[in-house]
Amino acid sequence: MGKITGFMEYERNEKKRVAPLLRIKNFDEFYVPLTDSERKEQAARCMNCGVPFCQSGMVLGGMMTGCPLNNLIPEWNDAIYNDNLENALSRLLKTNNFPEFTGRVCPALCEAACVNGRDGKSVTCHDNELYIIETAYKNGLIKPNPPKVRSGKKVAVIGSGPSGLAACDCLNKRGHLVTVFEKNDRIGGLLMYGIPNMKLDKSVIERKIAIMREEGIEFKVNADVGNTVDAKEILNEFDAVILCCGANEARDIKVSGRESEGVYFAVDFLTANTKSLLNSGFADKKYVDTKDKNVVIVGGGDTGNDCLGTCIRHGAKSVIQLEMMPKPPEKRTENNAWPEFPRILKTDYGQEEAIAVFGRDPRIYQTTVKEIISEKGKLKAIKTVKVEFIDGKLTEIENSERVIDADIMIIAAGFVGTKKYLPEAFGVELTQRNVVKTDENKFVTNVPKVFAAGDMHIGQSLVVRAIAEGRKCAKEVDRFLMGYTNMI
Ligand SMILES: Cc1cc2nc3c(=O)[nH]c(=O)nc-3n(C[C@H](O)[C@H](O)[C@H](O)COP(=O)(O)OP(=O)(O)OC[C@H]3O[C@@H](n4cnc5c(N)ncnc54)[C@H](O)[C@@H]3O)c2cc1C
Ligand code: SF4
Repeated sequence: MGKITGFMEYERNEKKRVAPLLRIKNFDEFYVPLTDSERKEQAARCMNCGVPFCQSGMVLGGMMTGCPLNNLIPEWNDAIYNDNLENALSRLLKTNNFPEFTGRVCPALCEAACVNGRDGKSVTCHDNELYIIETAYKNGLIKPNPPKVRSGKKVAVIGSGPSGLAACDCLNKRGHLVTVFEKNDRIGGLLMYGIPNMKLDKSVIERKIAIMREEGIEFKVNADVGNTVDAKEILNEFDAVILCCGANEARDIKVSGRESEGVYFAVDFLTANTKSLLNSGFADKKYVDTKDKNVVIVGGGDTGNDCLGTCIRHGAKSVIQLEMMPKPPEKRTENNAWPEFPRILKTDYGQEEAIAVFGRDPRIYQTTVKEIISEKGKLKAIKTVKVEFIDGKLTEIENSERVIDADIMIIAAGFVGTKKYLPEAFGVELTQRNVVKTDENKFVTNVPKVFAAGDMHIGQSLVVRAIAEGRKCAKEVDRFLMGYTNMI
């Protein structure tokens, strides 16, 4: 422990955000980093407690708490405080291939489990992580480091989201020759087309991919396996195959009027937006323009929030977010004690922006869509109804219908597993939850030499969990190829 009076001396100090009314003028990232000396103070707050729950990555109360990558958080906090950036970086990269992604988009399960978090003042692990990697880039410490020896084994990774990228990075470093097949025109999965640019600037992904290319990984884009690329050819050509195609089958809402023009799925909406931004700065107009439109978002979660921030940046007239569940409590309840992940009300960046622009929280709780009202096939309004859970069953409340004007409706109601054509092309079995079935902790499917990882394996989750999946799967693939493994 570097500073023996750590958190007793220094208060938690988060990095600042650009004010909502300013940041909605563009799609840029909006965090303002602390100075180096302020960051050192934040690292000093970590006093290397006897039981660092922050790095535990365990399931408590049905939710993951602590870092799923088991990041060595107290060690790198100590190294930041002691000005030993190289050591901090080497300890960070030991367990996390992509701190530049998690340091931006991770919901910081570590901080929820931090002993200091018991009073809401956890160590700023998430921001400290980003500081290490970004300072390392700035100081020229991140360079391509191709493996010195090649094993001669060939691995195909299908899908280039965080799980596929983590798996290919680990296997390439181990000396295997890795080819990544990606159906989209850009690498990154939901990091690229899903999470909006203001949360994760796409140049951050491209910077890392350029390094991975130089390290010897081959990336093939516009390669839709099971469609434009034959699965059998891949099986013939490669010694092992890893399926990392995500769980992107959107949950639909089945109400009258669903086919109306003006109704979109969230990921389609967000993908078109980022693509148009990157391709032409929106000049090509190939996105859903919400300027002066009344928008209803179905789903009060993180994806809905990303749609909200996007709509506001385009100048929507009004945005409402419908949420079926009751409003969460402001503070932990007795049955949600530390170090469980807190199930409390979170006002994310998009909601903060909506409050600044429209003067009220956009979320309407315990409400869902009953009917989509259209005129000449075009969305006109949405009939909502209040709901509550009675004996565990979602029940409509009588006479609670309301009609809201709407030009655009975005469905952000979650996902129901993976798309089926790729598993079918490989003959891979799915579970009842519509994700790939594997041997427990072995990642191997019913088809010899075919493995699966990430959301396609565990269902829609988090970037940090996808990276953890990719790493663990890579280890099993290495064991399969070599007969043993030393990978961690
Ligand atoms: C809108 C949105 C915002 C999110 N925000 C956050 C966040 O802020 N923080 C966080 O931690 N998590 C967030 N998540 C969740 C997180 O993005 C996912 O859990 C994570 O990306 C899963 O990684 P993955 O590699 O398993 O799959 P994905 O990221 O889904 O990548 C799968 C890839 O496989 C490709 N693919 C699919 N089929 C084929 C095929 N047949 N051939 C070739 N390629 C194929 C896809 O094109 C895609 O690129 C968000 C999710 C969404 C939808
Ligand atoms: S990856 Fe996420 S949970 Fe792990 S240390 Fe970083 S911010 Fe915390």
